Amino acid sequence: MPELPDLTVVAEALHAALAGRTIRTANAVAPLAVRGTPAELDALVGQRLTAVRRRGKFLLLDLDRDAVVVNPMLTGRFQLADPTAKHPSKTAMVLGFSSRARGPRDVASWTSAASWMPANDATPEIRYRDPTQMGKVYLQPAGVERPVAGLGDDQGPDADDPALTLDVWRERIRRHPGELKNLLRNQAFVAGIGNAYSDEILHAAKLLPFRKRSSLASEEVDALYAATRTTLATAIDVLRERVPPTFEKQVRDFLAVHDKGGQACPRCGTKITEVRAGGFITSYCRGCQR
Ligand SMILES: [Zn+2]
Repeated sequence: MPELPDLTVVAEALHAALAGRTIRTANAVAPLAVRGTPAELDALVGQRLTAVRRRGKFLLLDLDRDAVVVNPMLTGRFQLADPTAKHPSKTAMVLGFSSRARGPRDVASWTSAASWMPANDATPEIRYRDPTQMGKVYLQPAGVERPVAGLGDDQGPDADDPALTLDVWRERIRRHPGELKNLLRNQAFVAGIGNAYSDEILHAAKLLPFRKRSSLASEEVDALYAATRTTLATAIDVLRERVPPTFEKQVRDFLAVHDKGGQACPRCGTKITEVRAGGFITSYCRGCQR
């Protein structure tokens, strides 16, 4: 499932590649993935893309007038491609873009002079594909209230939000006494962390996933904050190097513990424990997490 680091890199890349271009074509190849009417989809054509952003585990496309919000869920992925390139299988939606006079000014510096960046006179496409068809594309025409499940007031601040200071973290975490893995994955606490990065953060913080927050000493609450920030920032740096130009691929092989059951812990050498519960994997080290 794409999480904060994955979607940050995709949003930065798509913003740099596409902002300032006008939508030329909008096709729902798998109409069930799209929440909105065919007329609303057609109305995207002719609108200029002003920004691509991430919020929690959602990707947001801001247009002149309307907006598009994508919740990729488990397997939704974004491909940036030339329109002549073959569509990947299970493509759900394709947006084709015009050429542009120039790119936006507010780009992430790592995208400058990137070899994969479409030329301004190119006409690139975004293909959104989703093999399990669990993700959703929400069309948000101006003036239409279409709620997006999970995006809104009940969502906590992004886990990498500069406004989420240590003091804010200490305050927010008091409301959540339960197990640490569930806490980190709870989007009402902080947004953007899922199954993989919760394991990574807990390993970095040397805390066990099934430990209760109510059992933590104050230094451990602070360690969890520090681990959250460094783990996400480090992952974003790695993904900026490793993901382009195949934005549809999920790169996870560099993680320390998640999905590495049976391998040696990179910190202490103990065999990594893997537990399957509720349909997902939890990986941790009994040697150095407590
Ligand atoms: Zn270990």
